[in-house]
Amino acid sequence: MNTPIFPQSAPIGTVLIDRSAISSRISAMAQEIDAAYASTDAPLILLSVLKGSILFLADLARSLTIPVELEFIAVRSYEGTQSTGSVELVKDVSMPLRGRDVLMVEDIVDTGTTIAFLHEHIRRHAPRSVRLASLLNKESRREKSVTVDYIGFDIPDRFVIGYGLDYDGIYRNLPDIRVLDGEES
Ligand code: 5GP
Repeated sequence: MNTPIFPQSAPIGTVLIDRSAISSRISAMAQEIDAAYASTDAPLILLSVLKGSILFLADLARSLTIPVELEFIAVRSYEGTQSTGSVELVKDVSMPLRGRDVLMVEDIVDTGTTIAFLHEHIRRHAPRSVRLASLLNKESRREKSVTVDYIGFDIPDRFVIGYGLDYDGIYRNLPDIRVLDGEES
């Protein structure tokens, strides 16, 4: 039943959330989002935070029935100490957000630093509303107060890979969310 992910080697880590659980949770999130934006007059802008959120974006977008537009933004995090991590904008949006409803789509909210920065940044584009959908949420690691409007899964303080999340640039294409072997909280 468990197809080897890389035929030439053993699958890495252990599964924390499998692909069917991800899929059903995203369908439920999409229903909630559909209902919340059902009566808005312009398409919802799904603002994907590159690169980690792209698989989540692709599945969420296909589960929604309301009209949406897709937009992308990219940031880079510098991790000095955990509490002084700072964020730099690498790619800004390329469409006007003024007066629009924006739903930021993230892979994971950890300390909240990235999302706090992005919230502040997006507000300068004067949208009508900004909300956040994050597939994963590590509440125990939070340092900045941020509201995650739509949460896929609350997870413990473990380093996860797969379904968009990387380790050193790889493993984003794994279909399940996995914890690296030997990774302790
Ligand atoms: P924050 O700014 O909330 O501390 O961190 C957000 C970013 O840190 C995420 O977008 C992601 O790139 C990275 N991150 C946090 N936790 C994990 C994790 O468990 N696995 C991976 N692959 N990236 C993580």
